[in-house]
Amino acid sequence: MNTIKLSELGEFGLIERIRRALPVGRGVRLGIGDDAAWLENHSPWSLLTADMLLQDVHFNLEWTSLADLGYKSLAVNISDIAAMGGLPAYATISLGLPRDFRPDQVQEFYRGMNVLARRSGVSIVGGDTSVADALLISVCLLGYAPYRPVSRGGAKPEFDVYVSGTVGDAALGLELLKTNSSAIHRQAGAYAVKRHHRPTPRMELGRLLARRQTARAMIDISDGLLQDLAHVCAASGVGAVVWEEALPRSRSYRALAQNSRLALSGGEDYELLFCAPSAARAEIMRIAKRAGVAITRIGVCVAGSVSIQVVDRNGKELMIGAGGHDHFASNGRRKLVRRIT
Ligand SMILES: [Mg+2]
Repeated sequence: MNTIKLSELGEFGLIERIRRALPVGRGVRLGIGDDAAWLENHSPWSLLTADMLLQDVHFNLEWTSLADLGYKSLAVNISDIAAMGGLPAYATISLGLPRDFRPDQVQEFYRGMNVLARRSGVSIVGGDTSVADALLISVCLLGYAPYRPVSRGGAKPEFDVYVSGTVGDAALGLELLKTNSSAIHRQAGAYAVKRHHRPTPRMELGRLLARRQTARAMIDISDGLLQDLAHVCAASGVGAVVWEEALPRSRSYRALAQNSRLALSGGEDYELLFCAPSAARAEIMRIAKRAGVAITRIGVCVAGSVSIQVVDRNGKELMIGAGGHDHFASNGRRKLVRRIT
């Protein structure tokens, strides 16, 4: 284990260490080490996204390993590219590092990131480092669109609303970590924690949904299903009804969560939420099979006000407090209308 301080190694020594460890994928003419990266374009249409993660705001090192953090910082960016129907290609990683950070800690971060970079065909081609008061991670990801990108704005009244995978697991995992629950040592809890630390960006699914414009509006779930559906509704000028009973919940979720609060409002699942006309139902099931991901129809777009209703199996509206997840009551009979705009 290397225990020298970053200050002793210097920025150039660190960059050299990082460069040696990184995969160089296709299309990289010149990666880290020159004034700028020289890259080949895979398609005329580029997709560019950036995310900044700040210690104690977006992550907590008490329960997050640096390898998981490296993995997740890239995953959330890939997810944004996937939500447009694109594929990721090149990333720059910029780090603000506390003075007492060690080179081996930086390397652990990149070890986690490289696992996903290799798996998803991402080349890390540059970035910057600086000293900082807390750990700061800034990722910029360049992707390409093999087909016309799918925006948030294409939903129409009567379109179906779908979600991939299961929802609520990542938020459940975070709650278990925050409360230091003993459940994290059991299978159900460990699964939720893993979903929190290492989400799976739905690259292939996003690509297939864009190929024939099967999905007309799409977003990835970072802020929570209702919140992200609200973004789609606002961009499309529609409302939506969500059937609580239809929400896809994992075995872990069913074992450990008390109600559907986290499935509706918990963030960071990085599943795809999309809308499509009812004529596309058979095609969507074929795409699910091909991508190897479950897709569930969870509601329908409606005309009128840009708001979302969540209804139970009897068609009764569920209560969700305005802006506050904490007031959610799974058996509530009071009026719920979550106002979006
Ligand atoms: Mg997004």
